[in-house]
Amino acid sequence: MRKSQLIYQYVRRNGPVSKQDIVFGLKLSLPTVSNNLQYLMELGVVETPTKIENTGGRNAVAYAGASQARIAIGIYLTKNHMTAVSVDLNGQVIVKEKVRTRFNLEDEEYLKKIGELVESVKRKTDVSDEQLLGVGIAVQSLVSEDGEDVTYGMTLNFTGATRKRIAKYVPYRNRLFHDSEMSGHAEAWIDGTLKNAFYLSLNNSVGGSVIIDNKMYVGDTLKSGEIGHTLVVREGGEQCYCGRYGCFDTVCRATKLDEYTDGNLEEFFELLGQGDKKAAEMWDTYLNELAIGIHNIRMLFDSKVIIGGYIGAYIEEHLEELARRVDARSPFTKEKAMDYILPCKYKVESAAAGAALNYIDDFFESI
Ligand SMILES: [Zn+2]
Repeated sequence: MRKSQLIYQYVRRNGPVSKQDIVFGLKLSLPTVSNNLQYLMELGVVETPTKIENTGGRNAVAYAGASQARIAIGIYLTKNHMTAVSVDLNGQVIVKEKVRTRFNLEDEEYLKKIGELVESVKRKTDVSDEQLLGVGIAVQSLVSEDGEDVTYGMTLNFTGATRKRIAKYVPYRNRLFHDSEMSGHAEAWIDGTLKNAFYLSLNNSVGGSVIIDNKMYVGDTLKSGEIGHTLVVREGGEQCYCGRYGCFDTVCRATKLDEYTDGNLEEFFELLGQGDKKAAEMWDTYLNELAIGIHNIRMLFDSKVIIGGYIGAYIEEHLEELARRVDARSPFTKEKAMDYILPCKYKVESAAAGAALNYIDDFFESI
């Protein structure tokens, strides 16, 4: 890391801090710290909002990160919605907007809506073109390394679609990202202490991503974490959207539960809370399947397992029961699943936020 980056990250994480704090904290010389602070202030990413009181009487200038000096926008396209967020340099969501619209890349009006949503979030965030670092577009598919092409988009049947078409009405720097990977990325980003983890994305399809040493592990051909297509029902399993039978996706996608409540997951969990017998049976089956999946992940990775996606938002109050079922499978009796299963931290639209955070990362690299 360059000294300018080092000093910037120190100030961003610890601010407000004085020059002396930085000198001691990073073991750098005063001139080095002064020169770099000058540069960072010219860049607009460090500001001096307050003074720090010294016991000696003279107040020291306090430096802090200007969190909204730059922002990035992320957008997530799903079957029935598009969601956009703006995030600041601390990874905090500033504005979030969600519209209900049917995914259809053939429809010019749909493409225009993408552009309009980006403009709307940008306007509400109140930033200039210069402050906007870029627009990350998270899609329910695997994406080529350069972010230009959809390489496997079977859930919504758009394999072969291009960034050029999807972002036809987005006049800012942009690229495509794989949604599950971005959700994992957002979790790793917001929790810098998260070392190794598997992010399990339980949406209307099941996906995952692998975090090693707080970085995404994408695999040799960008397909790591595709737990949705591991075979879990050997005989008589349902057909998966991939065409095969008995995939993990077929037993743990969120629709497995909300098919009971006409697609309304919130209502499903309400019924479950009220003691509805059918909902309780469905949940019991679901938890058993989920426990097997988590057990397998733990055996492979010996890492934390983050429960994300739509189900992740409801899992907290069922965590002990889930952990009990995972523990029942483990050969390591001293290990407790409650210590390694975590509900996701990013409650608001992790895929969109994760996509935006790539531009924040790029910006940090450029400082
Ligand atoms: Zn499958």
